Amino acid sequence: MALRTAFAQRVQPLLAARQLLQSRSLVGLSGLSETHEMMRQTCRDFADNVLAPNAAEWDRNHTFPADAVRSMYDLGLMGIETPEEYGGAGLDSLAYAIALEEVSRGCASAGVIMSVNNSLYGSPVRKHGTEEQKAEFLTPFCSEKLGCFALSEPGNGSDAGAASTTARREGDQWILNGTKAWITNGPESDAVVVFATTNKELKHKGISAFIVDKKTPGLSCGKKEDKLGIRASGTCNLIFEDCAIPAANILGEEGMGFKIAMSTLDGGRIGIAAQALGIAQAALDCAVAYGQERKSMGVPLVSHQAISMKLADMATRLESARLLTWRAAALKDEGKPFIKEAAMGKLAASEAATFVSHQAIQILGGMGYVTEMPAERHYRDARITEIYEGTSEIQRLVIAGQLVKEYAA
Ligand SMILES: Cc1cc2nc3c(=O)[nH]c(=O)nc-3n(C[C@H](O)[C@H](O)[C@H](O)COP(=O)(O)OP(=O)(O)OC[C@H]3O[C@@H](n4cnc5c(N)ncnc54)[C@H](O)[C@@H]3O)c2cc1C
Repeated sequence: MALRTAFAQRVQPLLAARQLLQSRSLVGLSGLSETHEMMRQTCRDFADNVLAPNAAEWDRNHTFPADAVRSMYDLGLMGIETPEEYGGAGLDSLAYAIALEEVSRGCASAGVIMSVNNSLYGSPVRKHGTEEQKAEFLTPFCSEKLGCFALSEPGNGSDAGAASTTARREGDQWILNGTKAWITNGPESDAVVVFATTNKELKHKGISAFIVDKKTPGLSCGKKEDKLGIRASGTCNLIFEDCAIPAANILGEEGMGFKIAMSTLDGGRIGIAAQALGIAQAALDCAVAYGQERKSMGVPLVSHQAISMKLADMATRLESARLLTWRAAALKDEGKPFIKEAAMGKLAASEAATFVSHQAIQILGGMGYVTEMPAERHYRDARITEIYEGTSEIQRLVIAGQLVKEYAA
C-alpha cells in the first residue's frame, strides 16, 4: 500500500505536467505577419498532435517517422522556400525558421529530416540547378522524395575543403569514388547532393557539386549510426565505388562546389538554429509545467527562488537566440548579407539548447533523468546542434572572420 501511494505521488505531478504540456501554447511570440502566424499555428498543432505524442517511441526504437514525414509533405513543409512553380510553398526564410522551430519542438528528429531536405538538399538545387535538374531533382522532393547532402568525410569534417572523394570525367559521364560520412537522411533518401574533387591540384577550388540518384549502381549506404540523440533520423556513410552518373548531373560549374557548399551551409545554419530553438522551447515548457505541479517543502518548485532564477536565465537565453535567428532569416529574405548573423543565430541557439535542456533536467530532479519525461531526450537531442553544419568553434571562426572584414572595410 505504502509503495502504491509512493508511486502515485511520484506519477501525479508527471501526469499533470504532461496534461499541461498538451494543452498549452507557451511560445507567446508576437508581431508576426498573418502568413507567419498561420504557419506557426499549423506547425504547432501538427507538433502537438502528431509529433510530440510519438517522439519518445521513435527515439527509443530508432524509427524513421515515415508517416509524419508524409504529413510534412502534405503540409507543404518539405519545400518551404521553393517557388510554387517547382512545387514548393514559395514562402520565405523566416517562415522556414518558424516552421522548423515548431516541428523540432515536437520532435527534433523530424526537424532535422525537414531541415536537410529544405536547406541542405533543396536550396543548392534550387539556386544552381538547370531547369532539367529542377524538374527531376527539385519538384518531386517537395511532394514525396527525400534528399540529402554529402560534404563530410571520415577524414575531414570541419576542414571541408580537404575532400578526398573524387569525380573523373569519362565521355558523357562522371565517375565518383570515395566515402562520405555522417549523412543525415542517407539511409532513406532518394537523391544526394555530393561534393567531389575534380581537380586535386586546385585544392578547394577543384571541388565540384553533383546530384546523384540514390539508385545509381556503385552507390551504397554504410551501417546506420547509433546516435546519442535525434535517433529517429537516419545517419550513415555513403560509399561511391566507380559510381557513374550522367555528365549533366554536375550542379553549377565545375570547380564551384566549395562555394556552393559554403553558401548552402550559411542558409542551413538558420535551420539548425531553429531546430535548436524548438528543442530549447520544449525543454523550457517541460521544466515550467513540471515546476508548477511538483511541490517541495510545501510549495511548487517554481516558488523557490533558486528555480525561478534558472527559469529566467533559460527563457532569456532562448529568446535572445530566437531574435538573432529571426534577424538572420529576415536579412536573408531582404537579400542582405547574413553570414555573420546566421552563424551568431546558430551559435546562440545551439548553446541555448544545451544550456536550457541541461537546466530542465536539474529542475525535474530524478524525473529529468528517466525516459518517462521528455527532458532527457531534449538534452540528448540538443547536443548535436553544436556539432553539425559547423561546430560552435567553427561558428566563432566565421563570426570573427566576418567581423574583422567589416572593420577592415
Ligand atoms: C548526427 C550527425 C549528422 C550529420 N549530418 C551531416 C550531413 O547530413 N552531411 C554532412 O556533410 N555532414 C554531416 N555531419 C557531419 C558534421 O557536419 C561534422 O561532424 C562536423 O562538421 C564536425 O566535423 P568532424 O566530426 O570531422 O570534427 P572535426 O572537424 O574533426 O573537429 C573535432 C573538434 O575540433 C574542432 N576543430 C576543428 N577544426 C578547428 C579549427 N580550425 N579551429 C578550432 N577548432 C577546430 C571542432 O570544432 C571539434 O570540436 C553530421 C554529423 C553528425 C554527428
